[in-house]
Amino acid sequence: MRILALFAISVLILSSCKSAIRIIDKPIVYDQERKLLTLEYLEQRYGIKANSPKITPKMIVLHWTVIPTLQKSFEAFENATLPNWRPDIKTVSGLNVSSQFMVDRDGTVYRLLPETIMARHVIGLNHCAIGVENVGGDIGQPLTKAQLKSNIWLVRYLSNKYDIDYLIGHYEYTLFENHPLWLEKDSGYRTVKTDPGADFMEKVRKAVDDLNFKLLPKS
Ligand SMILES: [Zn+2]
Repeated sequence: MRILALFAISVLILSSCKSAIRIIDKPIVYDQERKLLTLEYLEQRYGIKANSPKITPKMIVLHWTVIPTLQKSFEAFENATLPNWRPDIKTVSGLNVSSQFMVDRDGTVYRLLPETIMARHVIGLNHCAIGVENVGGDIGQPLTKAQLKSNIWLVRYLSNKYDIDYLIGHYEYTLFENHPLWLEKDSGYRTVKTDPGADFMEKVRKAVDDLNFKLLPKS
């Protein structure tokens, strides 16, 4: 009887672990303005003229927000336009930054945009990349074990659904400058990134080794 009870408890624990991660929709503003700015971004930065800002996912890009809370991280992406955007400066897109997913410190996974709508999170590659932002990161607030677990889960979920070739950390994006997927027209438009840290990427990659993503281009 005792053994049976123990068995029942362990089955319960195992099954609850399995179903512990799920996606919660927490949409940022996706209105006509954001749609038009996204279409403009696709055309101006990549030369893609489209009627819909849909992407064909080929890559997953992992990030950290540095912003310490979910609420503040969400607020940074929520509005359609960049804060302090001046529409009179035509050379700079007013489209706010965002990502399709955000993972809270406790590992909760939020979907901020439909998975195949373009988000502005990685120069040169937004037309083919799904972004996963992790709340926090950097010195003083390293990404948590729960976030690691959820990122691994999310990479598997997305790879099952789409034809994903590459998994990268944001800091690796410039390796793609000479790759056919790279479409940014301005060779001077680059930012230096360190997120989400080499250590975090190593752990995620190790856990999803069986998915056989392609090797990154050499620098
Ligand atoms: Zn980033």
